[in-house]
Amino acid sequence: MNIILLGPPGAGKEHSGGADREERKMVQLSTGAMLRAAVAAGTEIGKKADAIMKSGGLVSDDIVIGIINDRIDEPDCQGGFILDGFPRTLPQAAALDKLLQQKGKKLDKVVEIKVDDAALVDRISGRFSCAKCGAGYHDRHKPTKTPGVCDNCGATEFTRRADDNAETVKSRLMAYYRETAPLIGYYFAKEKLQSVDGMAPIDEVTSQINAALG
Ligand code: ADP
Ligand code: ZN
Repeated sequence: MNIILLGPPGAGKEHSGGADREERKMVQLSTGAMLRAAVAAGTEIGKKADAIMKSGGLVSDDIVIGIINDRIDEPDCQGGFILDGFPRTLPQAAALDKLLQQKGKKLDKVVEIKVDDAALVDRISGRFSCAKCGAGYHDRHKPTKTPGVCDNCGATEFTRRADDNAETVKSRLMAYYRETAPLIGYYFAKEKLQSVDGMAPIDEVTSQINAALG
């Protein structure tokens, strides 16, 4: 099964991808995570993406389409994939349709995670994750049980995304409404869209996503 998780920044696309993912043998492909890795590694793509991401804008369609085109040919994607953060523009959606067709694959569903705007800004400014295991936390909503120590692995180093600050969040939201929100109509018209309530607790969101996948 191949699906897309659609939703604004801070909706929880990364952390609610579905507990059944492993059983379903699906891999989650996050263009944001791939771009952050490229920035950290200092690759050509990373150099192009760095300033754009820090400003909260969108990286060019060509770059992200190229990344996804290569990535879904890898063996681990053959059991199915969850696209998280891609497509983000109508041209990316059209390119995805075309490349899936060329590869003889199909898109099964698009799951939209709906969240109130006010909650998004609050969620994003405050989130951080464990540098070692990647567990996600939030200053106000989900602090570590012992300050400065990861609940999951005991590590004491944490990271915050460079673009997770109140100022950049607004640009990211604007980019979402201008470029990405039209995809909701695009996939509704294709009868692929299912919506889940992203305001519910994370486990509940996960189970709603699983239910939507059937
Ligand atoms: P979020 O959904 O929380 O904004 P992501 O990790 O999905 O976070 O994306 C972070 C940044 O990476 C975006 O603000 C954008 O600059 C860039 N990016 C990720 N995916 C895409 C994409 N499909 N098209 C263009 N830019 C992208
Ligand atoms: Zn950890």
